Amino acid sequence: STPVTEDLKEILSHFLIEGSVASVKAYGSGHIHDTYYVQNQSLTLPDYLLQRINHHVFRNVPQLMDNIELVTAHLRKKLAAMPGREPDKEVLTLIPTRQHRSYFEDPAGNFWRLYLLLQGTRSYDLVENTQQAYEGGKAFGLFQALLADMDAHLLHESIPDFHNVEHRLKQFEAALVKDRVGRVKAVQPEIAFVKQRAYEMTALLRLGREGKLPLRITHNDTKFNNVLLDRQDKAQCVIDLDTVMPGFVAYDYGDAIRTTAVTSPEDEENLDRIDIDLGLFRSFTQGFLEETHASLTDAEIASLSPGLTLLPFIMGLRFLTDYIDGDHYYKIHAPDHNLQRARAQFRLVEVLEEKSGLLQSIIQEIYQACQHTDTQKIS
Ligand code: ADP
Ligand code: MG
Ligand code: MG
Repeated sequence: STPVTEDLKEILSHFLIEGSVASVKAYGSGHIHDTYYVQNQSLTLPDYLLQRINHHVFRNVPQLMDNIELVTAHLRKKLAAMPGREPDKEVLTLIPTRQHRSYFEDPAGNFWRLYLLLQGTRSYDLVENTQQAYEGGKAFGLFQALLADMDAHLLHESIPDFHNVEHRLKQFEAALVKDRVGRVKAVQPEIAFVKQRAYEMTALLRLGREGKLPLRITHNDTKFNNVLLDRQDKAQCVIDLDTVMPGFVAYDYGDAIRTTAVTSPEDEENLDRIDIDLGLFRSFTQGFLEETHASLTDAEIASLSPGLTLLPFIMGLRFLTDYIDGDHYYKIHAPDHNLQRARAQFRLVEVLEEKSGLLQSIIQEIYQACQHTDTQKIS
């Protein structure tokens, strides 16, 4: 149900806000939470952003808020020590409740949180040019670099096995065995596609278990609309921290490229249209590596390229599993929507496989140029 302004003002009364509320209006284009713009009566006091957290998607709100508190505190501390940085503008600021908590649970069981509104910023659902792609790479790269010295084990795994492809493969196998709605027979080519790649797609997990790939703190929702840009279209702040948890750097990089450098929609019907935009790819990668090259290990740099195919593979696998299971996880807009989504993601995997040599050489070239620039600065 949609809360009315009076209810929202009641919710806001539980937070330690400065001044008084002039208006509360629905805001932004997020698909997960309900987001509201809270305008202050006073022009000199801050505006706020109120969110009702979707607790159907995020089952453990206390854990995820714990993660956000820890991560924003770390980011703030790191930025405060860097000359020329403005932590209040570059990190989300949680406004505590009167009980000194980072969220408020209302009597109906809804969870609410309040952030400082970052004035003069905007987010774009789709990247419009290479300059923006570069800024997106800088934003998620800086986020990664600043958190590289934070112990990933301090965070909760707020959505267990989120990007764990072995877990997704198990769910897929279980759906095949059940064949709940009799669709298995009709998706043999897609099943074969998955089986052909199942082993190689678990490579990063195996490297992790062997201690060769470090567990980092990753964002896990690196879409371009989760970066706020300032009035000059420069990256200002990474937002939407609900999925921040332990993971591999390649997850963030791979999902960012999947959503930033691939301009066709996730469910593109015409498979011939699915391609990666090399200009956007290069620009995002440039921004990302400028920020991260010094903190990533050689194994992590080498993992970026397999990360490119892994993320669309996981998405396609999840769509296909849901299709076989009878469409009860993702909202569908047509009977075969999940199958169409799976096919689009698998086509993207193929495109990325075909171009993997080229993509890998671009990553290497940019990485080496970043390191070279560092050497020149030192000497
Ligand atoms: P969702 O998980 O639903 O995508 P987000 O946390 O990304 O929710 O927020 C939705 C939108 O609200 C964002 O795309 C952005 O435009 C805007 N937004 C979020 N946080 C802030 C903030 N602190 N200041 C200004 N705008 C914000
Ligand atoms: Mg968002
Ligand atoms: Mg979100």
